[in-house]
Amino acid sequence: KEKTLAMIKPDGLFGNYTDEIKRVILHSGFSILKEMSIQLNEVNVRLFYAEHSKKSFFPSLVKYMTSGPVFVMILEKVNAIADWRALIGPTDASKAKVTHPDSIRAICGLDLERNCVHGSDSPQSAAREISFFFGDTLSS
Ligand code: ATP
Repeated sequence: KEKTLAMIKPDGLFGNYTDEIKRVILHSGFSILKEMSIQLNEVNVRLFYAEHSKKSFFPSLVKYMTSGPVFVMILEKVNAIADWRALIGPTDASKAKVTHPDSIRAICGLDLERNCVHGSDSPQSAAREISFFFGDTLSS
């Protein structure tokens, strides 16, 4: 089995989508191994999204990701990384509503930035992101 890091972003929590998203997760055959809610600060987001630090949208992304708590989960199943990415749908939630109407981003997202959920995109990023939240990165 494979593990991945799933995150409900601040807009997902503000919109009260957590229970609905967890129902979809469990119904899709994932086990939720660990979960927690946490308020990220600017330093945390800069580290988590380091690959985007030079992008023009980065300041806005930091503001969005620190606008409220996030809810992170370790999901486990066979092919968890790709299957969770497929379930959440394309990055741009406004397009997801048209092309992938059953995806999670179509249900709770708004646009290219406020897309309500995150999923690791490779085994390397899953390992990094799981240790980011459930290792000692945040408490150090
Ligand atoms: P995530 O990594 O959160 O699962 P993703 O892999 O689909 O999303 P990335 O390209 O890694 O998308 O971008 C990370 C996040 O940055 C996106 O989920 C979105 O919130 C935000 N973002 C990406 N591109 C843009 C953009 N052009 N304008 C505004 N925000 C963006």
